[in-house]
Amino acid sequence: MPELAVDIRGLWAFYNGTPVLEEINLEIETGKLVGILGPNGAGKSTLLKVILGLIAPGRGQVRVFGEVPRKLRHRGEVVGYLPQRPLSNPHFPVSVLDVVLMGRYGRVGLLRQPSRRDREIAIRNLERVGIPHLAARPIGEVSGGEQQRVFIARALCVEPRLLVLDEPTVSLDACAQDDVYDMVHRLKEELNLTVLMVSHDIGGVARHVDDIVCINRRIHVHQAPPIGRLGLESAFGCSVEYLFHGQIPHRVVKIHDD
Ligand code: ADP
Repeated sequence: MPELAVDIRGLWAFYNGTPVLEEINLEIETGKLVGILGPNGAGKSTLLKVILGLIAPGRGQVRVFGEVPRKLRHRGEVVGYLPQRPLSNPHFPVSVLDVVLMGRYGRVGLLRQPSRRDREIAIRNLERVGIPHLAARPIGEVSGGEQQRVFIARALCVEPRLLVLDEPTVSLDACAQDDVYDMVHRLKEELNLTVLMVSHDIGGVARHVDDIVCINRRIHVHQAPPIGRLGLESAFGCSVEYLFHGQIPHRVVKIHDD
């Protein structure tokens, strides 16, 4: 039996007393690339934040590599995280390399200057994501796809075992989305990572992941792709229409009742 990267039992999460996750049971084996799908407000980001130790479970038990997530967060070396909106100010006057180096702060501390080794690790991770030539460019001046690569390189700087990506392909065109998926898959293999990836892009996820988790407050489906209509409908809570690409749902469109 492979070691579990994530082991969640009977998890409930609440905001102001209102449940947003109910009775979540989820086991993710090490080495898997898992896509988490669900409509807006389904609790996907909340689930990631619980796994990252940023939100405490209201009820239930969560373990990441056998540890309580909050403890891992304080150690800062197990989980790499790409948040949904990593760049609050697109004109922030820092270079691509500076942004990647921020991934080392958990290790070096905010007040210490990054060492030569920190720089080497940052540059190696820029190489891994295919953009070492952009190191000196201001972060606001590189494209959306390149920015996602920068933030993935930053997440890799903690030298993680688990990489958590919240909407890594949002607002990218189809080619750039495929490039990001291919890169994530390659990084997973090269670095022996387990990867959790939230996405709205049902077709892209179905083509690239080992397992799909459909969530809408509860887990509706957890299986290997391809995923059928019923699983998606039960999670998305509406009738859905597919444009198929072989066996794979390529796009899901809500069918309006009116
Ligand atoms: P998703 O990532 O699937 O879009 P979220 O986990 O962000 O969903 O949100 C789940 C629900 O919790 C939504 O109804 C959202 O409005 C609510 N929510 C998220 N964050 C907070 C918060 N900090 N305070 C109160 N409600 C929140």
